[in-house]
Amino acid sequence: PLVLGIETSCDETGVGIVRGHTLLADAIASSMEEHARFGGVVPEVASRAHLEAMTPVVERALAEAGVKFADVDAIAVTAGPGLAGALLVGVAAAKAYSLGLGKPLYGVNHLAAHVAVDQLEHGALPKPCVAMLVSGGHSSLLLVPDVATSVISLGSTVDDAAGEAFDKVARVLGLPFPGGPHIDRAAREGSPEAIFFPRGKYDDGTFDFSFSGLKTAVARWVEARERSGEPVPVADVAASFQESVVDVLTRKAIAACREHGVKDLLIGGGVAANSRLRALAQERCDAAGIRLRVPRPKLCTDNGAMVAALGSELVAAGVAPSHLDIPADSSLPITAVTL
Ligand code: ATP
Ligand code: FE
Ligand code: MG
Repeated sequence: PLVLGIETSCDETGVGIVRGHTLLADAIASSMEEHARFGGVVPEVASRAHLEAMTPVVERALAEAGVKFADVDAIAVTAGPGLAGALLVGVAAAKAYSLGLGKPLYGVNHLAAHVAVDQLEHGALPKPCVAMLVSGGHSSLLLVPDVATSVISLGSTVDDAAGEAFDKVARVLGLPFPGGPHIDRAAREGSPEAIFFPRGKYDDGTFDFSFSGLKTAVARWVEARERSGEPVPVADVAASFQESVVDVLTRKAIAACREHGVKDLLIGGGVAANSRLRALAQERCDAAGIRLRVPRPKLCTDNGAMVAALGSELVAAGVAPSHLDIPADSSLPITAVTL
């Protein structure tokens, strides 16, 4: 079946089209430039941008896939979690397409979609697998017996998300928003051993994360440098901060695989685009005999293809479609794959 997926949980208006595990189109519009000068996503601005972009992005996706509305077998949409007003635009549009085309609607969980997207690159997901989702809004370790029906939370951040820490540290270093890619780039010129920054919850025996202490430690270190009148070694700070984050992330992800006897680890979400995270995860998975799957960076950040990928999985698994009166649920828990 041909599934069209719509994503509007944050600043990206994404529309993807997939058939089975084959990606046919992945069209996207982002309002990030409009938010950058505020140093964060402004919800009202994002909602209006989704409204303006929706129809053109759907049309671009259909053209890219070389299909017509009549060819679409099902509509999937991110129903949560995310920004309430932003989600609402996508959910309303998806309902309209579903009703207008007479095709089933699947309201899906954004985090489960970040997991399902990997199937477009690496084929069927092993059952079970452990998934680590690290983005601007989330840092979670999940046990995934079956992404269509059952996702179990093992732990998550108790304060800042990993991407949020990247963005805040970037601001301290005077790098543009969103800061993750800039830290990644700056870190390549620096030493990860230059400064030792704290590793939150490193050995606490849980699968939870904490990044706010690290963020504060970096800010204090930089302030002290500035007070002393010495230049701030941006590349070394970036590399040392990044090392702290990826050391904790990879350590806990592998511990989760071990504890649950799982041999396949998937990493997704925007921070999975980080080059050091990808390298260290590969190194540690090789040493532990765990197979690592990380989608290409474009599929790691928010997009419509991931929603279509999960929709396609739901259709294949025979999961019942959603009712046309589903809400947008800004705090949809990860345990709810569909709504
Ligand atoms: P959600 O949390 O709901 O999934 P989001 O918009 O934050 O929403 P993504 O688009 O998946 O989700 O991720 C964006 C985040 O990823 C930002 O915090 C950004 O700084 C971070 N990021 C992107 N590329 C990199 C990179 N190379 N290294 C580190 N962080 C990165
Ligand atoms: Fe996301
Ligand atoms: Mg985003």
